[in-house]
Amino acid sequence: MKYDLIVIGGGPAGMMSAITAGAEGMRTILTEKNNKLGKKLRITGKGRCNVTNYGDLEDFQRSIITNGKFLYSSLYAFDNLRLMELLESRGVKLKVEQGNRVFPVSDRAGDIIDALFRLLRQNKVDIRLNTAIQNILIEDNHVHGVVTCDNNVIKGDKVVIASGGMSWQQTGSTGDGYKLAKDAGHEIVKPRPALIPLEIKEPWVKDLQGLSLNNVNIRAVVEKRVIAEQSGEMLFTHFGISGPAVLSISSYLSKTLQHPLNLQVDIKPDLSAGELDHSLQETLNKNKGKSLKNVLHDLVPRRMVPVILQITKVDDNKKVDRVSRQERERLVHIIKNIPLTLKKMRPLNEAIVTGGGVGIKEINPSTMESKIVKGLYFAGEIIDVDALTGGYNLQIAFSTGYLSGISAAVSK
Ligand SMILES: Cc1cc2nc3c(=O)[nH]c(=O)nc-3n(C[C@H](O)[C@H](O)[C@H](O)COP(=O)(O)OP(=O)(O)OC[C@H]3O[C@@H](n4cnc5c(N)ncnc54)[C@H](O)[C@@H]3O)c2cc1C
Repeated sequence: MKYDLIVIGGGPAGMMSAITAGAEGMRTILTEKNNKLGKKLRITGKGRCNVTNYGDLEDFQRSIITNGKFLYSSLYAFDNLRLMELLESRGVKLKVEQGNRVFPVSDRAGDIIDALFRLLRQNKVDIRLNTAIQNILIEDNHVHGVVTCDNNVIKGDKVVIASGGMSWQQTGSTGDGYKLAKDAGHEIVKPRPALIPLEIKEPWVKDLQGLSLNNVNIRAVVEKRVIAEQSGEMLFTHFGISGPAVLSISSYLSKTLQHPLNLQVDIKPDLSAGELDHSLQETLNKNKGKSLKNVLHDLVPRRMVPVILQITKVDDNKKVDRVSRQERERLVHIIKNIPLTLKKMRPLNEAIVTGGGVGIKEINPSTMESKIVKGLYFAGEIIDVDALTGGYNLQIAFSTGYLSGISAAVSK
């Protein structure tokens, strides 16, 4: 049997591509090397799946770090509202949380996968699990089919490569698609971690392991110049720092990593230095006779007090009545500029998203079709695109998946 479309990879991009082509009457097969679909999708948003973002197209453009312009047509063709409508029409109730992040009301990523699975079935897509594709058959710059890992040939007129990046490889995203694309003549921009936790040199960071700060401002500084800045939540870990604000700033840094790189964390971003000094004075005044180390937790998380006193070199046993103006200023300065030194990024496999991938110059942004091989399409994280946290990366997968599927159908 010959298919109209063969989709490689059963992640969000591949599933959406197959659903769309199937709905248009294309005889479609979805191949997935795992024994189930959407293994990575299931762990997104800590199992809750931040499926998209409720922001407008401009917000999307601001939040895409690499090649936002390239994604304009796909995001326009199938935007967040259409995705939400599709999911809700299949019984997945959605809610919008802080930062316009959209989640299923059930907080279960599995509900999204089930809805996509029902759509695949409804649109008569053949699903072939445990089937890794190892080759694409190309003749005279036209696609003819694919070869599976057990050397079976699946014939088809069109192929979508939606095999993801190469991080969290345990989910199946092992970078196979880069080889397939390269064999077809495409340039691969070197894969790099995007949205990645950071290892930090300061040893005291370990002592704060597990501490989460809800609202910080992080600045990356090279030779006194701020090169990137992000606000939001941050988490201390055994190796350094993580959390949404850290992951987001890492994406800017990984593109042009410069050393030495210092980070400054403002743990009171809503107060100016003057307002913080005022609060500090009030705290000191109402706690006369006590040691500084026993009152600072009024202003900063208790576990951070020893660290702040160590960095400012203010005697932690000092009675609050004896704190000098200079010492107060030092405390304020450090609370708003906690200094951290970047050791390195965590390995690529730990990245939430793989940056780099199939270069965009050889992909038509209006169709997702290869400019080199007729009938070959790309969708999702395999392309050299990446965005901040907030649901943007999944929307990119769904939008490029949709555009590849509809384009393949239109040019049938
Ligand atoms: C821990 C974690 C949490 C995340 N949370 C969010 C979030 O909440 N919101 C958000 O927007 N983004 C999130 N992301 C990012 C998001 O999951 C990815 O950007 C998205 O899954 C990419 O979709 P994709 O379909 O392109 O690739 P993938 O989801 O990686 O799917 C690719 C599929 O292709 C299959 N495959 C690979 N090679 C072959 C082959 N040779 N033959 C057949 N099949 C193959 C793989 O097994 C895999 O199933 C998260 C990522 C991680 C790791």
